[in-house]
Amino acid sequence: MRRTLIAGNWKMNGSFAANRSLLSEIVAGLPVSSDCDVLVCAPAPYLTQCAELLTASPVKWGAQDVSEHAQGAFTGEVAASMLVDCGCQYVIVGHSERRAYHAESNADVARKTSRALSESLIPIVCVGETLEQRESGQTEEVVAAQLQAVLDVVDVAQITQLVVAYEPVWAIGTGKTATPQMAQDVHAFLRQQIALKDVAAAASVQILYGGSMKPENAKDLLAMADIDGGLIGGAALKSADFLAIAAAA
Ligand code: 13P
Repeated sequence: MRRTLIAGNWKMNGSFAANRSLLSEIVAGLPVSSDCDVLVCAPAPYLTQCAELLTASPVKWGAQDVSEHAQGAFTGEVAASMLVDCGCQYVIVGHSERRAYHAESNADVARKTSRALSESLIPIVCVGETLEQRESGQTEEVVAAQLQAVLDVVDVAQITQLVVAYEPVWAIGTGKTATPQMAQDVHAFLRQQIALKDVAAAASVQILYGGSMKPENAKDLLAMADIDGGLIGGAALKSADFLAIAAAA
């Protein structure tokens, strides 16, 4: 019932030359009929290159952040309408690196989510706890607050247009992955939180796992009942690894 989404988050990596190779390898290596959707979230300057190279392929592309504002005097910001102009269907919002290095609050993330939805972009809303929060037993409290800020600004019809990504901060780029059961427990909890607002919407929302997902652990993670895909950092920069994760889906 829920489709699997394998999404690469390139973060601040790439060049026209490197992207051309990576994308052509991904397009060439994808199985002809695949049960999963494949997405790459590229740095903003490369979104038109994605459009050029991916339009005729099944691979979708998206961005890594979006302004909460529609347009105007916001130097350096990128509007949701501009991402749509570049052919994006998705945008990551509230990644832990944005929360940590750019002080994005739950309220900021909620406003960005609303803006993306109002332009018909699918927001991939990231939530996740730090190691300190996990060790002090605050995981559910932290992710519930992050999710609730978003649920408070969307209506029921919009919930089904959201993607949620659970990315434990301690697992990002560290090589430490949550065990499939640890991830499943948080995914099930997030789905329950959505169900408090609407049971049917909760059943249809895709919840991705992110944090050191790689070919060796993807199959076991993706086999869990509430894990509907992956948001992949480092392994999305190597076509063989990214394709192997997509093949495991
Ligand atoms: P890694 O896969 O490199 O741990 O990054 C995960 C992530 O932050 C994806 O958004």
